[in-house]
Amino acid sequence: MSLKEGLKVRVAELEAKYGTTPNLVVILVGDDPGSVSYVTGKAKAATEVGIRNSTLRYPATISEAELLAIVDKLNADDDVDGILIQLPLPKHIDEQKMISAIKPEKDVDSFHPQNVANLWLKLPGLKPCTPKGIIKLLDSAGVTIEGKEAVVVGRSNIVGLPVAKLLLDRNATVTIAHSRTKNLAEVTRRADILVVAIGRERFVTADMIKPGAVVIDVGVNRDSRNGKLCGDVDFESAEQVASAITPVPGGVGPMTITCLMENTVESFEKKKTK
Ligand code: NAP
Repeated sequence: MSLKEGLKVRVAELEAKYGTTPNLVVILVGDDPGSVSYVTGKAKAATEVGIRNSTLRYPATISEAELLAIVDKLNADDDVDGILIQLPLPKHIDEQKMISAIKPEKDVDSFHPQNVANLWLKLPGLKPCTPKGIIKLLDSAGVTIEGKEAVVVGRSNIVGLPVAKLLLDRNATVTIAHSRTKNLAEVTRRADILVVAIGRERFVTADMIKPGAVVIDVGVNRDSRNGKLCGDVDFESAEQVASAITPVPGGVGPMTITCLMENTVESFEKKKTK
């Protein structure tokens, strides 16, 4: 059974037991086409697994105070299990302030400082979706993580740093590379598991990959050759060298959304067993 099918069964069992299902609320500010498309994908996935969901849309002119009041209301609503604020927000709204306003137990993106701390202290709590999904992809492909050389390219708070921590927790030997790394190709060629999250189209080429490595491509970029979506890894050349590689689109993106659904279910279950 796929992870998504497993979640559908889990949600159906929760409905049988409690007479209701988890409830996800997504907040979308403005009408950036990328954000609209991400939010639509999340709503569709939620509906598919039986999670109640709604998208609250506000104009880009909404004030920070108004948005904080909306989050407060959702925090206080016992029927809301997950709150997700689609990023980026307009410049006049402080993103960190908004994320920190969400109750940690409803923060299904797991960006709240409390959830970040839980991750680094190995305390229970919701895990960030993309890093969690990457570990699930490796596990489902039967890749042994323990003892492997893992190189993560990118050190963002939402992908690079947390995925490095999760790989470390699974006993990989982890190197984090970034824009100031010298001789990047030498570093990436050490990797048995190479995770690339930089946001540069087809940046990692076959010569930067150790033969037989497992490559996880997190990037989502527009291919300047044809306007289609592409990753941070040059898939055509990399797949000749790697033993396995995630495609873009596909791969990490859909798994991230599945983990968002799982976090919403976990939040509901925790509420019900409190
Ligand atoms: P970000 O916050 O912009 O961080 C990019 C990281 O890449 C930074 O740490 C930066 O280094 C590093 N970097 C940039 N250029 C580099 C270079 N030439 N060589 C080595 N390192 C370089 O990006 P992000 O939010 O982590 O996202 C990364 C990509 O993943 C984007 O394409 C994004 O759209 C995608 N993404 C996909 C999903 C999904 O679900 N599929 C989820 C999240 C993100 P410095 O720290 O030195 O600046």
